[in-house]
Amino acid sequence: RAKQRGRDTFHFFDPDLDRMLQVRHEQRQRFIDAINHDELRLYFQPQVDMRSGRVVGVEALIRWQHPEQGLLPPGDFLPIIDTSSLEVDLGEWVLTQALEQLTKWQALGIVIPVSVNISPTHLLASGFSQRLAELLERYPQVSPDMLKLEVLESAAMHDVEAALKNIARCQSLGVGFAIDDFGTGFSSLTHLRQLPVNLIKIDQSFVRDMLIDANDMAIVESVIYMANRFERPMLAEGVETLEHAKALMKLGCHLAQGFGIARPMPPEALPEWLASWPKRADWQALAAR
Ligand code: C2E
Ligand code: MG
Ligand code: MG
Ligand code: MG
Repeated sequence: RAKQRGRDTFHFFDPDLDRMLQVRHEQRQRFIDAINHDELRLYFQPQVDMRSGRVVGVEALIRWQHPEQGLLPPGDFLPIIDTSSLEVDLGEWVLTQALEQLTKWQALGIVIPVSVNISPTHLLASGFSQRLAELLERYPQVSPDMLKLEVLESAAMHDVEAALKNIARCQSLGVGFAIDDFGTGFSSLTHLRQLPVNLIKIDQSFVRDMLIDANDMAIVESVIYMANRFERPMLAEGVETLEHAKALMKLGCHLAQGFGIARPMPPEALPEWLASWPKRADWQALAAR
């Protein structure tokens, strides 16, 4: 059977492996269809400055509006992507959508920076900064500093030289960079020294449990301490309650994102959320503390 399919390099035919490869192939194919059939969506989650109550940006988070399975989070389908070309295609789709959305919001008088998650493979793909420059030129109404890119610490681990070069090139276009999920990598300290990032995002897994887990609290404290020592702005992800917010402010972290502030929402919901946010008295009172 193996030979029939032209895989005569397999000496031992393993039906489980074969089935797995086939399922993967089908999943990947289905995902490519999803891109082409317009089933992907960007949701947006606000980021605020707790000192002023000001909304400082929104993070674009991808969803798959699956016709049978409903709205799927990225954890359900990003693992399907196992070729770099598909990763680059998806990344370019996300960047384009983000710029489209910036344009639409601007037309409504809403000027707000959008952060886009960039996969390590995409960041390190040749011509990344060149393609980004071309994309920005297609949206001349959008100022490049309205676009921020979030990269995982691990993105730089593979090939530090290339990552640094690409990040610097994008920054020279005016695009800001954030390190995402900071603290989950293996060499946080070194990266912080080397990478010219504009924002450090403290990983939500530490923030979420910081009030009940002394180890997580220790990590959050350390990251805030380091970020301050390196004079880098920082943002805490996973801020689920006002208690988290108060504790973070006390430690010296003022930018926040999390379910306590807002869940990721479709773009049409943002204007209404922006109007309601100043009326959230408990959160706005943080500023006065
Ligand atoms: P991330 O970039 O660290 O995004 C933050 C994740 O935490 C989001 O999950 C968000 O919904 C969730 N989150 C935010 N606030 C809270 C909170 O208070 N509590 C909890 N429990 N969770 C919170 P999501 O949307 O499922 O995305 C997961 C990851 O998928 C992202 O983590 C990012 O690494 C990746 N991702 C999302 N969109 C894209 C994309 O367009 N491109 C790429 N390459 N990766 C993406
Ligand atoms: Mg992110
Ligand atoms: Mg994160
Ligand atoms: Mg994450």
